[in-house]
Amino acid sequence: MDTKADDTGFIEKKNLRFLYFVIVIVIILLFNLLVYFYYIKVDEQIKNEYIQIALEQYSFVLDDFYNLYRVVIDMNIDKIEVKELFQKILQSKSMKEKNIYYINLAHQLRDFRDKSKFYDFTNVMLYSKNEAFYLNLLDENLLISKNPVNGYFNESLQNTDKPSFIFQISTNSYRYKFIYPLYLKNERVGFATIDLPSELIMEKFLHYFNRKSFTIIIKDFKKVRGDKFLPFYINENQRYVLDFHEHEPYYFNGRLDNQQIFSIEEFVYKNIESKKAFSVKMLVENKLEVFTFLPIVESLKQNPGFFCIISDGNRFRENDRIFRIILLVTIVLSTCLIIFVIYINKTQKKLEQLSIYDSLTQLYSRYYIISRIQIENERFLRYNKPYSVVMFDIDHFKKVNDTYGHLVGDMVLRELGSIIRKNIRKIDSAGRYGGEEFLIVLPETKKEQAFIVAEKLRNAVNKNSFPKAGKITISGGVAEVTDDTKSYEDIIRSADKNLYIAKQSGRDKVVVLEKA
Ligand code: GH3
Ligand code: MG
Ligand code: MG
Repeated sequence: MDTKADDTGFIEKKNLRFLYFVIVIVIILLFNLLVYFYYIKVDEQIKNEYIQIALEQYSFVLDDFYNLYRVVIDMNIDKIEVKELFQKILQSKSMKEKNIYYINLAHQLRDFRDKSKFYDFTNVMLYSKNEAFYLNLLDENLLISKNPVNGYFNESLQNTDKPSFIFQISTNSYRYKFIYPLYLKNERVGFATIDLPSELIMEKFLHYFNRKSFTIIIKDFKKVRGDKFLPFYINENQRYVLDFHEHEPYYFNGRLDNQQIFSIEEFVYKNIESKKAFSVKMLVENKLEVFTFLPIVESLKQNPGFFCIISDGNRFRENDRIFRIILLVTIVLSTCLIIFVIYINKTQKKLEQLSIYDSLTQLYSRYYIISRIQIENERFLRYNKPYSVVMFDIDHFKKVNDTYGHLVGDMVLRELGSIIRKNIRKIDSAGRYGGEEFLIVLPETKKEQAFIVAEKLRNAVNKNSFPKAGKITISGGVAEVTDDTKSYEDIIRSADKNLYIAKQSGRDKVVVLEKA
């Protein structure tokens, strides 16, 4: 017999079970995704913390430079005497006259020259308004040079109305150059500039960042070629220079692999125009390290490059550890949940099996066979498809129980179930309606055919010899659906009525009446 449960509620339950399963999987996936996003978010927060700290330190360094520079200029150069002398030098026609002012100026600045060694300035300059020449104020003889200004610095001078600074890259060094416009009676006489050389910048940075090393990545390396600040790492496109402090030379080049250098370069390319600070975490020699890149701040123009500060990635490690624990817990919980859902599904399936089948006869249960009649009835009401029902009852079954005991009675029921299964078609369904009463539903079958089926069954039982109980007979009532059949109960009642008549008229027979 076919055990298909098509178009019954059981298929729906199966689909529902699958749906639950999918929902559980989706929830688990969503949860994992949430955990992952949370991890990414925390990671991003930590990166920002590294950036914030580095930026603060960087602005400390710059403030320090700026204050130093302002004090020096205010105290020594931005004085009327100095400015007047400078103006007079510019205005003098004769060399003789000029020389007198030079000597005067040199005298004025003697003190400052002596002190300036202490500040480590490389140059303190006065530039004329029209950039015709400048004086190096640190030189004993006020070294004079003509047309010294060009390129980027020239542009910077043109655009400077208030104190500012640029990060200047020359052929063999880089420096912060502070530019200070000098005014005399509201007219600009020229500019004072002070250079902080790379050694000083480095020293300050190392001090403030509390690091052994940092790196400078500068746009357009061609300007920086030279061996004063070697070693350089020059990338394949020769566009960026990575400069290293001497204590740990070739930091990027020696310790990072090509892939890591490539990814750092990607970030540099991406962020150099936007002047955005960023931070990259990397595993270097099995240690988590953070590379924080700060745009080199200057007053004018674009970002010339980045300072890169390398720090230990302890805080990331903590986040990784927590994430790993959460992930592990999630995996364990998810596995438990999946196992639980599978278990529930299995037991539910078993319960459904139990409710579909009668365990003694292996025929359908009372509940299920009635649901089959309901479905056939629906089909009849909608498509006018006929169907018939046969109800069987074992004759004098009490006697079997009384004579041989209930166990033998059960054996008879079991064997009867097997006989019924063998004698009906696949599309027919047979079920145990009561103790020893059976229902057979025959779709697309009129009562004449149903009668033949019932007779065949009755004969098969009649001819069979049951173990211990021997010969047994059954009686049956046949009913076909009619327009009067309002519900499944009506047809069962009709079959029952005919069964009663069969019993009344001597048993071991099947009765089918004209009117159901
Ligand atoms: P009739 O020919 O009029 O049907 O006589 P009968 O003795 O078969 O009467 P009835 O149909 O009322 O029989 C019901 C009996 O069936 C009662 C009970 O002893 C027996 N029976 C019902 N269910 C079971 C069962 O699961 N196992 C066994 N062994 N006996 C059952
Ligand atoms: Mg009975
Ligand atoms: Mg009986």
